[in-house]
Amino acid sequence: MAEIKQIRAIKGVRDILPPASAAWNRVEQAAREVFATYALSEIRLPEFEETELFARSIGEDTDVVSKEMFTFRNLAETSEELFAAITKLFPDQFVKEPTPEPIRSFHAELGETVPEKGMRRISLTMPMLAEAMAHGELLSLRPEATASVVRAYIEHGMQTLAGDVKLYYIGPMFRRERPQKGRYRQFYQIGAEVLGQSDAPGIDAELIEMLFAFFGRIGLEGLTLDLNSIGCKECRPKYVELLRAALRKVSPKLGADSQRRIETNPLRVLDSKLPEEQSIIEGLPRISEHLCEDCKVHFAEVRRQLDLRGIAYKLNWRLVRGLDYYMRTTFEITAPGLGSQNAVCGGGRYDGLVELLGGPPTKGIGFAIGEDRVMLSLEAAGKIVAEPVVDAFIVWMGAATQPAAIKLAQRLRGAGIRVEVPPAETKFKKALGLADKLGARYAILIGENEVVAGKFTLKRLADAVQTSLTEAELVAELSKN
Ligand code: AMP
Repeated sequence: MAEIKQIRAIKGVRDILPPASAAWNRVEQAAREVFATYALSEIRLPEFEETELFARSIGEDTDVVSKEMFTFRNLAETSEELFAAITKLFPDQFVKEPTPEPIRSFHAELGETVPEKGMRRISLTMPMLAEAMAHGELLSLRPEATASVVRAYIEHGMQTLAGDVKLYYIGPMFRRERPQKGRYRQFYQIGAEVLGQSDAPGIDAELIEMLFAFFGRIGLEGLTLDLNSIGCKECRPKYVELLRAALRKVSPKLGADSQRRIETNPLRVLDSKLPEEQSIIEGLPRISEHLCEDCKVHFAEVRRQLDLRGIAYKLNWRLVRGLDYYMRTTFEITAPGLGSQNAVCGGGRYDGLVELLGGPPTKGIGFAIGEDRVMLSLEAAGKIVAEPVVDAFIVWMGAATQPAAIKLAQRLRGAGIRVEVPPAETKFKKALGLADKLGARYAILIGENEVVAGKFTLKRLADAVQTSLTEAELVAELSKN
């Protein structure tokens, strides 16, 4: 027999299996609960968008957009789509024609208005048709979600809503990165955004406070908050030029990546982890010394607001973040147990991004938590415990007892108790063994005597203590735990 090729998950993506998936759900549930106490609401977004959305917001020269997006062309699939492509590409090949005479008089006789939308193809060559078929807008799997949130904010006119618009999202992101521990091609983010008219530093600090409330809730400890201000469109360009000039002077001592970034994106040089570049970077001009007055005041107030909330931070002038839209406040949170990919959350202010995407003047700030890394860090700290998925295992003996077992299972499940009931008759010992292996706390034994008496035997598996209970008593007993 020919060997059947086994299909495996592609490089950089993973399955999240039980019991890990339950731990993921608990973390997501904690995010939902904590964020709700800060008056955030969930937004559910599409997982792919027009490529241009990401190019315009994240920036063409960033790694994410220039190398890491999964992009595809949305080819015409239906005749309507093909027709739309043809009319868009070759508008000259179409003329509006008046409605033909027989139709005209038909409508006129009925006293109706005559439709005037007749359109006729004049000539379309095979190469033209081929071009139309290959035409299609470029779409990308989202590499992050802030751009989508901003797009949705504009598209749905959310600026008219009362107060600041506070949203969170949970879901997969896609980047064609080199896979390693803590770095995947499909990974999950839990993110939040606050959009509105105010850029009060209290918003920045409260968002960070919320992050720590969340991390506290899930028991992630040993976190470090790095904080920086990267200025605004007044002071940042001047600083970038200063930095570029300083970098050009030391260029021969830098690696190829950094040398290239001097021209494309000099701020990214500060991100470099290359040991031989560290002493050079330490000697470069620092943004904190070149902030304009407004940015200085804003940053000082962010820090005071963090102090008010008892949140410790570390100033890190090299924290620039990889995406173009950030300005002023930027921050990153690192966690233990992760090796080199130790950033579990990144965020910052992006006033002006809404305008860049065609919306009204709006301030904004947000963050994204890397859920995969949060889970890895929790695991490294021994905080992920597999919980049994069954509370009670019903052991029924003899075909005559199956109806009672089914009815009892339905009643218990209705009360929220997690029940396993063998779908076919199973030997007593085997059933009890399975109950044990599944980690069930109880076995409920149903034999013919029990059915007649209307009482069931509840066996606590930890110590084999048995009690005889009616259905109602069973529900009450099992609901206690
Ligand atoms: P960013 O959107 O690049 O600011 O990333 C925010 C957070 O998402 C990071 O701090 C990471 O925790 C997480 N993250 C980013 N890229 C990946 C990836 N390829 N795999 C896993 N987590 C990621």
